[in-house]
Amino acid sequence: MEEAKLAHVLVVTFPSQGHVNPVLRLAKRLASKGLLVTFSSTEEAGLMMKKATDNKASTSIPIGKGKMRFEFFSDDPDLNDPNHTDLDALMERLEKNGPKAVADLIDRQAKEGRPVSCVISNPFLPWVLDVATDAGIQTGLLWVQSCAVFTAYYHYCNDPTIKYPATLESEISVELPGMPVLAPADIPSFMLETNPYKSLTDVIVNQFKNIKKASWVMVESFMELERPIIEALEGKASLLPIGPLLKSPQDVESKTIRGDLWKSADCIEWLDSHEPGSVVYVSLGSVVVLDNEQLEEMAWGIKNSGRKFLWVVKPAPNENEKGLPEWFLKETAERGMVVPWCPQEEVLLHPSVACFFTHCGWNSSMESLCSGVPVVGFPQWGDQVTNAKFLADVFSVGVRVKADKGSLVSREEVERCISEVVGGPRAEEMKKMAIKWKEAAAEAVSVGGSSDRNIQAVVDDIKQKAANLHAIKVDNGVINDVCTIPLTN
Ligand code: UDP
Repeated sequence: MEEAKLAHVLVVTFPSQGHVNPVLRLAKRLASKGLLVTFSSTEEAGLMMKKATDNKASTSIPIGKGKMRFEFFSDDPDLNDPNHTDLDALMERLEKNGPKAVADLIDRQAKEGRPVSCVISNPFLPWVLDVATDAGIQTGLLWVQSCAVFTAYYHYCNDPTIKYPATLESEISVELPGMPVLAPADIPSFMLETNPYKSLTDVIVNQFKNIKKASWVMVESFMELERPIIEALEGKASLLPIGPLLKSPQDVESKTIRGDLWKSADCIEWLDSHEPGSVVYVSLGSVVVLDNEQLEEMAWGIKNSGRKFLWVVKPAPNENEKGLPEWFLKETAERGMVVPWCPQEEVLLHPSVACFFTHCGWNSSMESLCSGVPVVGFPQWGDQVTNAKFLADVFSVGVRVKADKGSLVSREEVERCISEVVGGPRAEEMKKMAIKWKEAAAEAVSVGGSSDRNIQAVVDDIKQKAANLHAIKVDNGVINDVCTIPLTN
């Protein structure tokens, strides 16, 4: 269909890999169901994507029944300031410069003949809902963490009767509706008083303050995975699980559109050369950086496990971090590959992968679950700790490492956990559970499955509202020639 005749959705994402990936997957899914979708984030994120992928950013790309395009906004960074990418600086800049930049972007769409009829954002950019609502545009949210973590924050922000532990050493544990009891080490660490990332806590709390502005809160999860939690939230907040977005059926064009911020190394051929179920895939996502001591312990643990491995180690971010010890690369070259970034979706689906040693970011957790791969959970902070609890104790697909006093995870523990998940007495049971979730995930996103029905309802609502808007504008004799969304779309 002609671009100008499609209802136009603007999706705006926080510029980190863990947010870009699910939001881009959602954008593709919405487009495939007959919408025009503009994907947006900061210009810096746009440049990184352009360098790392083959996306054709300047044209609108047909996907299924709709189309998608990219348009980025400037948060006006001082590129000469070496600290401009620091989290606090980024948050401050986004909050200060983001609202006007996104409002201008919305205005520009109308001027160019494709008025925006819905804006969808994701957590960490709470002001986007305000900008869109002020412009009289329908809004939605994609919650990119689990329903369990949503519940934890929901009660943290809305229920003053619940007592939360202040530190990891506290004896207070938390019981929330639909959830297992959470010990201090299982609660999203941004809720602890000891949390060093205060700007993240603030931004999440702010999101919960204006969340009612969203017509729907979609969540990157699926009903079968988190049913008791979703049901317990009914009447308080209604969540629409629409995931796993990675698994959604997509056509060939949409598979070539990628959201990587770094170029992937070619490691699939290397995986091809190994036996099924023989390789441990190790990655701690896009943000976590281990200190030298912890990196050394991990290196020893991986070496001592005697297993083949594919390890993603991003270049050391500053001179305090030394990166991987040289001895490790020399001594393990024959049975391991170390890369700075990889195509994780493909890696997890590769038959030679036996287990995923992960930091338990929610995307990595979902990708592992929907690929049928058991995990060793090595969470660091934020929602990762809650995800690790669920992966091990609720979804039953793996184990979580135990830290020594002082929070160092020893080489012996790294080795023990890998052995347990790959070849221990419970390994088969964990693999069975992982396959069970893989099948349930595929079912949820298949045509007519629980997630597919939810996303279809969102698309129908967007089309309906866009059509009504058109009717009002025609009625008032206003921009009849600009708002070209047909009444029966
Ligand atoms: N990822 C990737 N290649 C890598 C490492 C990670 O493509 O080498 C992707 C991964 O598939 C996931 C995202 O980066 O979609 C990381 O998100 P997650 O929520 O797991 O962790 P975060 O990076 O936000 O801590």
